[in-house]
Amino acid sequence: MIRIYNTLTRTVEPLEPLVPGEVGLYVCGMTVYDHCHIGHARAMMAFDVVVRHLRRRGLRVKFVRNHTDVDDKILNRAQELGVPPLVLSAQFIAELDADLDAVGILRPDVAPQVSEHIPEVITMIEALIGKGHAYVAANGDVYFSIERCPGYGKLSGRKIEDMREGARVAVDPHKRHPGDFALWKAVPVATDLGWEASFGRGRPGWHIECSAMAARHLGEQFDLHGGGIDLVFPHHENEIAQSECASGHRPFAKVWMHNGHLTLVDAAGEPVKMSKSLGNVVRIRDIVARVPAEALRLMYVDTHYRSPLPFSDQKLADALGVLDRVYIARETVDEVVGRGVGAPLAALPDSAREVHALATSFVAKFEAAMDEDFNSAAAIAHFFELVRAINRFGNDKKARARGADALRPALECFAVVAEVFGIAALSPAAYFEEAKVKRMREQGRSIEAIDALVAERAEARAAKDWARADAARVQLEEQGITVMDGPEGSTWRVRVDA
Ligand SMILES: [Zn+2]
Repeated sequence: MIRIYNTLTRTVEPLEPLVPGEVGLYVCGMTVYDHCHIGHARAMMAFDVVVRHLRRRGLRVKFVRNHTDVDDKILNRAQELGVPPLVLSAQFIAELDADLDAVGILRPDVAPQVSEHIPEVITMIEALIGKGHAYVAANGDVYFSIERCPGYGKLSGRKIEDMREGARVAVDPHKRHPGDFALWKAVPVATDLGWEASFGRGRPGWHIECSAMAARHLGEQFDLHGGGIDLVFPHHENEIAQSECASGHRPFAKVWMHNGHLTLVDAAGEPVKMSKSLGNVVRIRDIVARVPAEALRLMYVDTHYRSPLPFSDQKLADALGVLDRVYIARETVDEVVGRGVGAPLAALPDSAREVHALATSFVAKFEAAMDEDFNSAAAIAHFFELVRAINRFGNDKKARARGADALRPALECFAVVAEVFGIAALSPAAYFEEAKVKRMREQGRSIEAIDALVAERAEARAAKDWARADAARVQLEEQGITVMDGPEGSTWRVRVDA
């Protein structure tokens, strides 16, 4: 049974889909006017793992994640750049897709854009006006009346009375209550981005788009709604209010899931604000240029999705180091199982028996952890335990020589981790090559210089000039390079201490 923490009820609840075997999931996506940074990617990754795990457990998931392509921030940016706003947003949707693809984040089944759902938005606003939940103000804006919405505040725990007292900024005179929010912003100038509606020309406010697009693609009621913890209020509170008042059906989404924030921290662990003006925004593409993308995935899943995630370069480097060990283990499994020389467990050293015990119990432990509110941190800890055992086994010559049967169950463990976490999904050769190139570049070192030294050693060996070969070997060792001699010549990688 899968259990999920529901922000709405503040409890961990069993997942009971409205239609048995099927899950509808809506996740709030990005406002597309800039590149995706590692904070955005955390939310994308959290729900990527949710979808992968639900699918692995046999549920048919319909995953909807929107792009907000009509927004003041996009309009302002487009004006600065002198391009039409929908051209700018289309460009950043393409950039976002490329960034998320590079991190192995699965694309949603439907990626709706508000600019393509204006009729649905207008119909919903008409229903809200018709039922007395919304009103057209003197300036042409349409507002949602929170006082006319029973249960408003149930997601965030806020009270309507407190919102009036708490309103410190000058209250918009067009609003009946300071907590009322815009469903539609009047756009009287014909050349500005806007659409005609029965209640006047304008464009949608932010919240209404998710209500309208969720209803279109998942129905008026569905199973799971997700997003970052910062969206609880006002965005998700307002989505619930709009959707439940417009349809008359409660609940809009049964379970509300929220991922914790990623914060940048300095070397001392103190939080640092990530902002354009400080020039310290860490974009996905910056990370993927420096390390294999799986290192970032590993860093994300190593923390529970609801917990805050402090990010630092050190944390990323640590994740890369762990990933190296994962691939060393993978290499051992491929080699030993591929060679196929086995022996009864009783005849093998302790390290082989230990690996066998951990590998045969792994999938059940992994599933139990993930079924309990997607506890990826616990699930990956079980995997690291297995990886350490495989690497002890790998260093044990006797175990390695005849350990194929002992190690074979580990193949399934790697397959499950690749399927749900997207980690250890590459061949070890491909991984180490990518890690090598990125590490060398990151450290400002020359791949060509190492290639030349390796060639020098090979030439010397061919000429039986052992002194010269040895000198090259010593130089390579000093630079932390491991050379592997194979039938097709020598390859090298940056040494990993397993
Ligand atoms: Zn939303």
